Amino acid sequence: MSGKYFEQNLVVGPFQCNCRLLICPRTGEALLVDPGDDAERILQMLDHAKTATNKPVRVRYLLQTHGHLDHVGAARPVKHALKANAPQIALHRADEPLYLALKQQGALFGMEYEEPFPIDHYLEDGEDLRVGDLRFSVIHTPGHSPGSVCFRLHEDSKLGIAESLFSGDTLFQGSVGRTDLWGADGDQMFRSIRERILTLDDDTRVCPGHGPETRIGIEKRSNPFLQ
Ligand SMILES: [Zn+2]
Ligand SMILES: [Zn+2]
Repeated sequence: MSGKYFEQNLVVGPFQCNCRLLICPRTGEALLVDPGDDAERILQMLDHAKTATNKPVRVRYLLQTHGHLDHVGAARPVKHALKANAPQIALHRADEPLYLALKQQGALFGMEYEEPFPIDHYLEDGEDLRVGDLRFSVIHTPGHSPGSVCFRLHEDSKLGIAESLFSGDTLFQGSVGRTDLWGADGDQMFRSIRERILTLDDDTRVCPGHGPETRIGIEKRSNPFLQ
């Protein structure tokens, strides 16, 4: 591996959630954003990454943007499979009730889940997370759900990292999150987007929980929900 960081996206499950793997090239430390479904395929992605990076990959966190089933559904089987070096399941406390109700969420869609593992790490607004040389900060963006967060990955030109935002179901290319689900609040979501997301640099790459990537500046100018 060339000293550049490794990133791969895998679209998982019937709701087509983007599950992303990021790896520090120096240490092999890694994280997964939103392991929502298809645990077997996520584990295959990790195996392929080990070959690609020539390094043992150690997943330190399963970072959950929020507690909806399509984002957290594979957290338990992935953590279980990695048990020798188990990652920490990380979620904002305000979405813990949703997360713990995974079985009930599934029942609404005829999907079966095992009881979720407990949350290991409660994400806090403004918290900085380090995974090897990768630097993240947590931005609490309530609205789509009470505990929705975005993860900001800080630019690092040496590692080939562009400033990026993993925006979960709060901001999409050309759209915004639903606000008709349990605990949602539309006014709060738009406030989160305007005050906490659109204030980032226009060049920031946005990686939503579903669908294609975009940029802050593009959404500011052309997202029909934000005009
Ligand atoms: Zn959601
Ligand atoms: Zn979703």
